Amino acid sequence: MTIAFITHHDCLYHEIDEEHPEASARLDAINDQIIASGIDIALEYVEPPLATNEQLTRVHDKNYIESIFRQAPETGRVDLDSDTSMNPHSLNAALRSAGAVIEAVDSIQSGKMSRAFCCVRPPGHHAEKSNAMGFCIFNNVAVGAAHALESYGMQRVAIVDFDVHHGNGTEDIFQEESRILFCSSFQHPFYPFTDLENHAENIIKIPLDAGSKGAEFRQNMEQFCLPQLEKFKPELIFISAGFDAHREDDMSHVSLVEEDYIWITSKLAEVANKYAQGKIISVLEGGYSLSALGRSVVAHIKAML
Ligand SMILES: [Zn+2]
Repeated sequence: MTIAFITHHDCLYHEIDEEHPEASARLDAINDQIIASGIDIALEYVEPPLATNEQLTRVHDKNYIESIFRQAPETGRVDLDSDTSMNPHSLNAALRSAGAVIEAVDSIQSGKMSRAFCCVRPPGHHAEKSNAMGFCIFNNVAVGAAHALESYGMQRVAIVDFDVHHGNGTEDIFQEESRILFCSSFQHPFYPFTDLENHAENIIKIPLDAGSKGAEFRQNMEQFCLPQLEKFKPELIFISAGFDAHREDDMSHVSLVEEDYIWITSKLAEVANKYAQGKIISVLEGGYSLSALGRSVVAHIKAML
């Protein structure tokens, strides 16, 4: 099997500040580990286009998109929230990141391959309809999922988010969209301090206590996520693939290891094989321990292979 590996050098030039964990070194660490592991021979490297205004408008408020374009600085830095900012390269990086998921959907629907990994930054799952937050500007996975609905007429698209932070942006965008099933596991209580009381039927929240390890993660996914996917029978599965729940990542207090990412990826691949002709599009979200991030992405991609 070949996997589309969708990335663009524009994603390397967006920087928040020198000390910020969401840095271009993350993509370098992933690329180094991919080459060291030898799995690059199974990847088809694809450069994404910039997402268009029309594609962004499916999930973001028009005024919000305009404000991002308007604020994009020619020099220096503009803060969008306390931990999200734009430098002169950020707008292009954000448009490439969303464009990568569009490209993934188009590649998969053309029948060229059934799986893709979008190796992009800034990440997206905290970006709401009208708000940048948590290092995220546009909600990349949501832009891709909306493309699958609107351009290909899909009726059942699942998004599974195993980043250690809740995908509040994805929930905000899709909470009234019955064609989307959104399952997110996350440390709780923890940033972004999501309200567990939203009981929209298509939104599945899987809170994990601080200190949870692989056993708790797997048990929760088996109980609350996988049966919902079986019931939903998705035509396509997106993964918001954040690796900041890793034991070595000091961003959180959940302790997963590579084997846990292999486990969940394999489970999702089983569902995809059963209902979705194997189609999976995985999109990088968080993951800040560089070594653990590189190893976890390789483990995840191997499990998709
Ligand atoms: Zn995260």
